[in-house]
Amino acid sequence: MSKVLVFSEVVDGKLSHASKEIIKFSAENFTAENTIAAVFGANSAEAAQEASKNGASKVFLIDNPAFETFRSDLFLAELVKIIESEKPDLILANNSIDGEALMGMAAAKTKANIATDCVSFNKDSMEVGRSVYSNKLLVSCKLEAGRKSFISFRPNNIKANSNPESSGEIVNVDPATDSKIIVADVQKSASKEIPLTEASIIVSGGRAMANAENFSILRDFAGKINAAVGASRAAVDSGYAPHSMQVGQTGKVVSPNLYIACGISGAIQHFAGMGSSKVIVAINKDPEAPIFKKADYGIVADLFEIVPALTAKVDALVKA
Ligand SMILES: Cc1cc2nc3c(=O)[nH]c(=O)nc-3n(C[C@H](O)[C@H](O)[C@H](O)COP(=O)(O)OP(=O)(O)OC[C@H]3O[C@@H](n4cnc5c(N)ncnc54)[C@H](O)[C@@H]3O)c2cc1C
Repeated sequence: MSKVLVFSEVVDGKLSHASKEIIKFSAENFTAENTIAAVFGANSAEAAQEASKNGASKVFLIDNPAFETFRSDLFLAELVKIIESEKPDLILANNSIDGEALMGMAAAKTKANIATDCVSFNKDSMEVGRSVYSNKLLVSCKLEAGRKSFISFRPNNIKANSNPESSGEIVNVDPATDSKIIVADVQKSASKEIPLTEASIIVSGGRAMANAENFSILRDFAGKINAAVGASRAAVDSGYAPHSMQVGQTGKVVSPNLYIACGISGAIQHFAGMGSSKVIVAINKDPEAPIFKKADYGIVADLFEIVPALTAKVDALVKA
């Protein structure tokens, strides 16, 4: 049975949803005993507890201000130390920007196999599924047996079927903090909205939103259904939304359970970022819009009428 190390990310002091799912998946498939986790961050003690409760038998915790933001040299050095001492066969992580970068560097450093942005994993055949060419092809890659392998997963694609109960040991690590990387400034989003890559529902707006203020229509709706708000590049380039909200080839790659595209035409570059969503709903007033070819459900309507109507309907259902 393989020993698994899950590199786990901390979001606002909590274990990220994606990391929690990967730990649970590992405990279910490789047993909690064989699952260990690395939790690096500042004020990350609660996240380590969560990792321990969700299936990790041992959690290596770095709770240090130097680890508040991702500094590749520090993170890499500490992760490699854990890999060298614990000798896991598999190292799993969320395919966030930081997760993907760290997996690549650590795999190179430890001369291991690596597969990034995977959407499936068969532990018996050691095959991973990777969605490529804007989700037009699903490639199956077989990881070389008998060699350490790093795999990063696109969020919301790896899920456990059960809720493993565990109470693992927490090992406090005293890290080296001398970094070559100087963090000059960190600009955090002022909003308390759910991060796009953590959301299981996303409501996105396109050029049709017409201005930044109109995004409040989407935010009101998203607030009612516990969703994050995204945007197309046309909306971002027009200044209606920040780049942090952009979904697509040059934005974030998301894979929520439900993606609601409002006034988005469905360009291939947008699809590259959301095409692996479980259910896609399109709201567009042009019945010929390409998005309808890819959507599971389509509403041919003016978003300025339909979205507030949906918000009111959900509101009424909640209050009923
Ligand atoms: C290299 C490269 C990278 C790119 N990366 C990205 C990326 O990361 N993400 C991305 O999104 N795009 C990306 N693009 C741009 C992409 O090609 C499209 O231009 C962009 O996605 C279009 O955005 P849109 O659908 O919002 O706008 P449009 O294509 O203009 O579509 C607007 C849609 O809104 C509908 N509409 C208008 N009014 C209403 C209304 N009142 N109610 C309902 N519907 C309405 C229209 O019918 C239309 O279908 C990239 C392009 C290139 C070349």
